Amino acid sequence: MSESLAQTDIPVGNAHASLVHSLVAQSPALIAIRGDDGSYLYANDAFAQMLGLPAESLPGRHEEDVLRTAGVPRALRIGGDAATAVTFGEEDAIVGRRARRFLVTRFPLRGADGGTIAAGMIATEIGNRTGTVANPAEHAEHADTRHAELLHALEQMERLAYTDRLTGAWNRRHLEDAALLEMSRAERHGHAASLLVLDVDHFKEINDQFGHAVGDYVLVELVRRIRGDIRRADTVTRWGGEEFVVLAPDTPLREAELLARKLCARVAEAQLSSARPVTISVGVAEYRCGESLEHWLGRADRAMYRAKNAGRNRVVLDPFTAYAADGTRQACSPVQLIWRDSYRSGNEHVDRQHQQLFEHANRLLHALISHAARDEVLEAMQALVEDIRAHFEDEERLHGSIGFPAREAHAAEHGRLLERAGRLFERARDDAEVPVADVFEFLAYDVVAQHLVGADRQYFPYLEVLPGTGNAMPCA
Ligand code: GH3
Ligand code: MG
Ligand code: MG
Repeated sequence: MSESLAQTDIPVGNAHASLVHSLVAQSPALIAIRGDDGSYLYANDAFAQMLGLPAESLPGRHEEDVLRTAGVPRALRIGGDAATAVTFGEEDAIVGRRARRFLVTRFPLRGADGGTIAAGMIATEIGNRTGTVANPAEHAEHADTRHAELLHALEQMERLAYTDRLTGAWNRRHLEDAALLEMSRAERHGHAASLLVLDVDHFKEINDQFGHAVGDYVLVELVRRIRGDIRRADTVTRWGGEEFVVLAPDTPLREAELLARKLCARVAEAQLSSARPVTISVGVAEYRCGESLEHWLGRADRAMYRAKNAGRNRVVLDPFTAYAADGTRQACSPVQLIWRDSYRSGNEHVDRQHQQLFEHANRLLHALISHAARDEVLEAMQALVEDIRAHFEDEERLHGSIGFPAREAHAAEHGRLLERAGRLFERARDDAEVPVADVFEFLAYDVVAQHLVGADRQYFPYLEVLPGTGNAMPCA
């Protein structure tokens, strides 16, 4: 989910943000950030130049692959250990066939809940190019100061990239990261999580009657109040305009309802504008195992619109909850296909499609195991078959453009898998019983274990020859 922290992501016109960003981008120090999946989120020009690669080719690619491609597998690694504590020291690295000495800081970048979301590195070469140091003590002190400044700048930049400028709430990108984390906790450990979608009622009228500045003030105050009323682990995100999302981890629907009612009442009584009362409408949805973030948000959003239609200044719940009336929890499906980092190809498009196939396969497994209605199972099967078909077509085009020598055999294997998928679908549709065991074996063994994680590995090395590989996928 992590997008790159590209230059364009910093709000244009925010002088402070631009300053911080250019300081980092143009710094002679080598600066890079790695996401918790091991791929780069950001690299400045100095870092990329040292590796002899264009800076824009790094985001999205796995650190180990990049360093291997650049011929420096052991140099300038951020690594996963940086995710726990700040480390600082001198290191020798062979880069460009020369032994060089760097002062290196590795540090974690933390999200709103204090959890680590990425790891970064700042490396400054110490000693000049001829290998002599004029005044080592002074040089080291200068490098120390510069390090501290850059570390601070980088932390600021990271925060800005995830923050809404007007209100200081988190932005969409942060919510996406935080929600995906909660979804995986729910899938693996059975934690509940809820989303609240909040929209200011008749906000346009506030703007129209009292001006945009008053409207802006109302939004800033609204976020301040919401923050005061939610738990430390909850986050508030500005989704856009006058619409906000609260993500509440470890919160089932009933508790989320109480939170929503509290927020709704507090906003109404807070008199955010002396000119006229300000109210919000809130939709609430508890995460349902196997669904995508888009689907989850969609349920909360539709509930919010029902609150609008029912007269505003109120809370409406999406009815799904994993808790029965007696308080027992219906667990997430115990059978799950778990996506692992080692399955990555380094090509962002391929990896996204592969992950989506896992997600849809899990939805189907969940529907099968929880004895969902036949229509739901068939719908999940059909969605998965279509996904597989679209993915295979994309992949075959990619194989053509990278000159993958075994592409014909691979395409024939695609054909066989699709044929089996089609037959299984027809059996599920026509027979009295859905062939659960066969569907499961097909998904877990043939598609995932044998194909996505097995056969597909054969073409991953050929991706390296695509210029700017990391993110490219030829269009039709
Ligand atoms: P409803 O109760 O149906 O939500 O009505 P509404 O007027 O709140 O909804 P509508 O979507 O018609 O209008 C939203 C308004 O929010 C329109 C837009 O100009 C205003 N808006 C969006 N972003 C900002 C902002 O950053 N500052 C200010 N002041 N206004 C904004
Ligand atoms: Mg509104
Ligand atoms: Mg709106």
